[in-house]
Amino acid sequence: MITESNLFYPLEPAPSDMLRLGREVMDRALTFIEGIADRPVLPVEAAPQGFITAMLAPPPEQPGDLTALLDKVDKAIRHAIEPGSPGMMAYVPPGGLYVSALADFYARVTNRFVGMALISPALTALEDSVVRWLAGICGLPPGAGGVLLTGGSMANFSAIIAARHDRLGERFQDGVLYMSAQTHHSVAKAARLAGFPASAVRIVAHGPDLAIDLQALSQATAEDRKRGLRPFLIIGTAGTTNTGAVDPLPDLATIAAAEDLWLHVDAAYGGMFRLTERGRQRLRGMERAHSITLDPHKGMFLPMGTGALIMRDPSRLAAAHEVEGDYLHDMRSAQTFDGEYLPNFAELGPELTREMRGLRAWLPLHFHGVAAFRHQLDEKLDLAAHAHKRLSADSLLDVPWRPELSTMAFRVRPKGDAPDAIREAEGATRELLDRINGHGRALLSSTVIDGKFMIRLCILHFRTHADRVAEVLDLIAQEARHVGTRLT
Ligand SMILES: *Cc1c(COP(=O)(O)O)cnc(C)c1O
Repeated sequence: MITESNLFYPLEPAPSDMLRLGREVMDRALTFIEGIADRPVLPVEAAPQGFITAMLAPPPEQPGDLTALLDKVDKAIRHAIEPGSPGMMAYVPPGGLYVSALADFYARVTNRFVGMALISPALTALEDSVVRWLAGICGLPPGAGGVLLTGGSMANFSAIIAARHDRLGERFQDGVLYMSAQTHHSVAKAARLAGFPASAVRIVAHGPDLAIDLQALSQATAEDRKRGLRPFLIIGTAGTTNTGAVDPLPDLATIAAAEDLWLHVDAAYGGMFRLTERGRQRLRGMERAHSITLDPHKGMFLPMGTGALIMRDPSRLAAAHEVEGDYLHDMRSAQTFDGEYLPNFAELGPELTREMRGLRAWLPLHFHGVAAFRHQLDEKLDLAAHAHKRLSADSLLDVPWRPELSTMAFRVRPKGDAPDAIREAEGATRELLDRINGHGRALLSSTVIDGKFMIRLCILHFRTHADRVAEVLDLIAQEARHVGTRLT
C-alpha cells in the first residue's frame, strides 16, 4: 500500500522532468569532454578513504536526487584511467565518439530488439549494412557477413566455436589449433571456453620479426597428424597487441588451403587500417580468411562495447549456433525482405536478447562519412612513423621493431649484453615508464617480448594528434636522459 511515508518517484518521469534530467546529463557530458585533454591520463590522487566502501552501498528504499547521484558518479569517473585522453597510448586505446554515445542513448530509449529479422527487419538491415561494410573492408566477397558482439574476445570465441563445429563436429577433443606467443591471450581463453584442453593449443615459434614461423607451423601440424590428432584451425594476427606485428597472412592462407585448415585472422587491433592504402598493403591476405575478428571500439573509435566477427560464409556461424526454440519457430521462415536475405543475429552468437547494437556504428559512419575515419587512421600511421623515427634516433633507447601499424615497443638500451647490464637497463626501463606516466600527459604501458621488458606506445585514439605526440616524445627523451645517463 502507498502511504505518505513511502512515496516513490514514478518510473516514468513526466516529460518536463525527462528534459530536466536529460539536460543535467548533457551539461555534464559537455563539461567532461571539454576538460578531457587537460586532465591527467592517470588520476593524480587516490580515491579518498572510504570512497570505495561508499560505492559498494546497496540502493536505498527512497528516491535520490539526480544531481547528488551524478556528483558521486563523476567522482568515481575521475578516479579511473582517462581512456579518452589524447595522451592515451597504453594497451590499445578505446575510442569514445560522441555521436556514437548519442546513438546509444537513442537506441536505449527506443529499445528495439534486433535479434530476429522478422521483429525489426529495417533495423536488422541497418546493422547488417555495417557488418557487410566491414566485410568489404576486409576484402571478403559479397555474401560475407557476420555479427556485432561486445568485443574482440567474444568474436574470437564465436570464431573458434564456428571452426570447431565446422571442422571437428561434436567430438572434438583431439582437435588442435595453432597460434604464436604473440597471439592475443583472448584466443587461448576462447579455446578453453570452447571446450578445448590446454594441450589442444599449440604455440608455434615466431621469427625475429615477431611473425609466426611458417616452417615451424607446418612441422607442428605434420607432427600432430602423425600422433593421430586433428589440426583444424590456424590463428593469424593482423596487428599484434605487443608491437602491431602482422603474421604472413597470404602464406597462412596457402598453408590453410593446402592442409584443409580453418584460417581465423585476429584483426581486433589492426583490421580497420585496411581503410587506408598503406593498411591494405600491410594487411594483405586477410581477404583469404574464413573468419576475422574486428574491434570497432578500437580502430573505429567507438565507445567500448563493440566487436565484430566477420565470416566469409556466415551460414557456418549459424550452423554452429542454431538451436531450436519452440517460441522462435515462426521466425525462421521470415528472413527475406525486399528480396534481401537478412540474418537472425541471435543465431550467429551466444546472445538472444540483443539491443540495437548497430546504431552506435551506423550513426557515426553516416554522420561523419567514411573519409573522416580513413583520414584519422592515415594520420595515426603518420604519427607512428614519426614517433618511431624519433625514438630510434635516440642513442639511449633500443627500438627493435619498425611499426607496421601504429604500435611500437622500446626500452632503455643496455650497455652491452652482460646479464648485469641487461638487468640494470630493465630497471631503468621500468623507471622510465613510471617517470613518463607520472607527468599525466601520456599513459604508456609495458609488455615482455621474448623475455625483454619493453615499454609500449600505441597511437590510435581519435583525439591524439601531432601536438600531443610531440609533447610525449619530448618527455620520453627528457626522462630517458634522466635514467639512461646513470647506467654504468
Ligand atoms: C584487444 C584485442 C583483443 C581482445 O578484444 P576485446 O575487445 O578487448 O575483448 C583480441 N585480439 C587483439 C589482437 C586485440 O588487440
